[in-house]
Amino acid sequence: MSPRKSSPLENVLGRVDDLDQQNLAILVQRLARERRLLETVFNTIREGILVIGRGGVINYANAAAAGLIGFPLKDLGRVILWKCVPELARTLHLDLGGDLKELSGISREVEVTYPRERILSVYIVPLHIENAPEATEREAGHAVILSDITEEKESARQHVESEKVQSVIDLAAGVAHELGNPLNSITIHLQLARRQAEKLEKGARREKLEKALTVCGGEVERLDGIIKHFLEAVRPAEPDLAELDLVAVLEESLEFLGQEITDSGLLVDVDLGSGLPPVMGDRGQVKQVFFNILKNAREATPSGGKIRIRTSFDDEFVYIQIADNGQGIDEKDMPRIFRPYFTTKADGNGLGMMVVQRIMRAHGGRIGLDSQKGKGTVVTLQFPQKQRKVRLLEGGKG
Ligand code: ADP
Ligand code: MG
Repeated sequence: MSPRKSSPLENVLGRVDDLDQQNLAILVQRLARERRLLETVFNTIREGILVIGRGGVINYANAAAAGLIGFPLKDLGRVILWKCVPELARTLHLDLGGDLKELSGISREVEVTYPRERILSVYIVPLHIENAPEATEREAGHAVILSDITEEKESARQHVESEKVQSVIDLAAGVAHELGNPLNSITIHLQLARRQAEKLEKGARREKLEKALTVCGGEVERLDGIIKHFLEAVRPAEPDLAELDLVAVLEESLEFLGQEITDSGLLVDVDLGSGLPPVMGDRGQVKQVFFNILKNAREATPSGGKIRIRTSFDDEFVYIQIADNGQGIDEKDMPRIFRPYFTTKADGNGLGMMVVQRIMRAHGGRIGLDSQKGKGTVVTLQFPQKQRKVRLLEGGKG
């Protein structure tokens, strides 16, 4: 075996006992310089870099790492990684305060909520310091490399989603086209049949026939309406933006659905507050959003239940919250709620929430969903204000 090569610095360190004061001072300066350089390099890197020791104690962290998982650098040596990022401990099946057993590399993606909602890619490798003189120094814990992949993930997800939505729209357009022709033909033939019926002698038979034809005509009209609404809902119309008072739009939607809701034995608890700042929106589309959400709330909530509506705002957004204490959403269904055709109802079409999401996005808004199976669901709609106030970065200068 060939002897391993050592660096010039190590050579000097090997002879530390022989060094005089002056050379020792030079050596210390050199070490300090090298350390500063490394530190600067590490703090320039966008990736977070940590070194953890026993029990997950963070012994080193660069600036990016401290920012990504949210702890002050002065707490190095005291903070435990698993407590900062419990999501990571969970995916690794570690108890808080536990030790990493595996010696090979570990790679995970975790969603963290603190200090911001982010998706992090985490790579963990054991650190072996080969040249360490003492065996105990050779196992230096683990290096943890964190990269923020939120944007990447989000854009990939949105891409997939918009493709799915597009395919539904294409399909819907196709179906509507196909249905339009036979419907027209049925309408024409119904007219012909009606004319023939009129030529019959008056009496019970003619009456029966005319009644049947009227029912058929009504049903054809209904079918036509269904297709029209379906297309309206699915076609990606650009919102026709105008200044909107969301409270007024909500009230209109409630007027429309209110009776149906009370007929189902539900209590509507509305407190719309006052002074809600205006937003820019397409009245029809926003009404559609409220309608779809209220309808879902009604369908999910058994008689005796309650639908609660609240509004609020901050410097930038207006929030509408519609909560029900109905059946809630299964945790496993949560990621599928906005998918086209996802429904848990026997007579559902699974398009309502997809349309809601599409409209909210077209308005620069967002929809949040919190639900607990058996307890209820809270839908939060976030609309950007017409005039967004610029937040003062440093409050009260001078
Ligand atoms: P549909 O109402 O036709 O089923 P939606 O897109 O409106 O389609 O909703 C999709 C699914 O989301 C519903 O089938 C239901 O499982 C779930 N969902 C939506 N809103 C609620 C709610 N408020 N409570 C419980 N489940 C809900
Ligand atoms: Mg629905």
